[in-house]
Amino acid sequence: MINVVRGMRDIFGTEMHAWHRAEKVFREVSEKFGYQEFRTPIVEHTELFSRGVGQETDIVGKEMYTFMDRGDESLTLRPEMTAPIVRATIEHSLLRHSPITRLWYAGPLFRYERPQKGRYRQFHQYGAECLGSPNPESDTECIMLANEVLREIGVTKYELQINSLGTTEVRAKYRSVLVEYLTKHKESLCADSVRRLDTNPLRVLDSKDPADQSVIVNAPVLLDMLDEESAMHFSTVKALLDSAGIAYKVNTNLVRGLDYYSHTVFEFVTDELGSQNAICGGGRYDPLFEILGGTNVPAVGFSFGIERVLMLLETEQGAPKPLSTVDVYLCAAGDEARLPIQLLALRLRRNGISCVTDIARRSMKGQMKEADRLSAKFTATLGQTELDMENIIVKNMSTGEQKTISIHQLESELKVLPV
Ligand code: AMP
Repeated sequence: MINVVRGMRDIFGTEMHAWHRAEKVFREVSEKFGYQEFRTPIVEHTELFSRGVGQETDIVGKEMYTFMDRGDESLTLRPEMTAPIVRATIEHSLLRHSPITRLWYAGPLFRYERPQKGRYRQFHQYGAECLGSPNPESDTECIMLANEVLREIGVTKYELQINSLGTTEVRAKYRSVLVEYLTKHKESLCADSVRRLDTNPLRVLDSKDPADQSVIVNAPVLLDMLDEESAMHFSTVKALLDSAGIAYKVNTNLVRGLDYYSHTVFEFVTDELGSQNAICGGGRYDPLFEILGGTNVPAVGFSFGIERVLMLLETEQGAPKPLSTVDVYLCAAGDEARLPIQLLALRLRRNGISCVTDIARRSMKGQMKEADRLSAKFTATLGQTELDMENIIVKNMSTGEQKTISIHQLESELKVLPV
């Protein structure tokens, strides 16, 4: 018996319907905002992530699925989507043709994390990137897009948190003030935080460790150190969100894990999913294009975990309901009709009607049972009499109403019958 890989999941059955609904929302809402879909390969050169995400991050340090391929190249299953999108836009010179480029994506990502509820080793993200604008209205456009997608999917129990990390210079200044403060309290910090003090000190602010909390509450606050440009940027973001009626909370400890964030960072969090409380994360990443060898392109984006959003939807609305995927189940009343129903099925499908036929050569009773199990909206039955008369018996499965009609009228009959 071979089982699914630890931390990975099969998606099927009624859960699949929830995915389809969500995927429809991603596409429709993104397009309403003028974002175009972009698909990158699942595998990239390892260097893309070590440079683009940062050596000191947990993702690069301990979570990547990295392997040597048969040509001795180090490749990595993508652990995040922003670096691949930036790589691709540089590679295809997209910004040269369209100085503001709006892209969205959805697909699987891979991180070797300790699996638990809401945390998987293969998970999926939907996200969007707005490339080319340094202005706060592109930050709020992304926040609004994420918010609209969540709203359309139907979740409500979440909170938007925002913060500003300022410019690279502001962050560098803050980093040294923070390190000085944390070093003074080193003995109260957990081992992970002590390690981060050297590698990624801002991440200490993210720590959930209770002992760290007592140090963090009195830590210097980056927001208090913003220069004029950064303060102006952040207050415009807040003003825009206020006027759009989008509620938010400023969380001065929100730093996000990655090295490339600047100015606005944001997260949508929920109390409904236990410790995996982040459903969406994003922010401005102006330095990234240059880090990856491009020109200076300001950019902002976000991504959310599809599994977590669907889990939240389930806690709010209950398990996804089965959907009828079949318009009509074609029954053969007798062997003479077995091949004719196959041809009739093809005709119906070409005319936009979904249908399933009996291929198990069941009895009539067995076929009706199967139609029921598939939640078919109608059955249509052919027997020798119907074949002779060019008729067919149509039954509406929800009302039980049944009638014999000309086989040539079947499509129009199925379209007019109440569903
Ligand atoms: P990140 O790229 O780490 O900022 O993550 C963005 C979003 O992806 C998070 O808010 C989560 O919703 C989701 N996510 C991140 N890691 C995982 C994981 N291992 N399993 C499931 N969802 C995840």
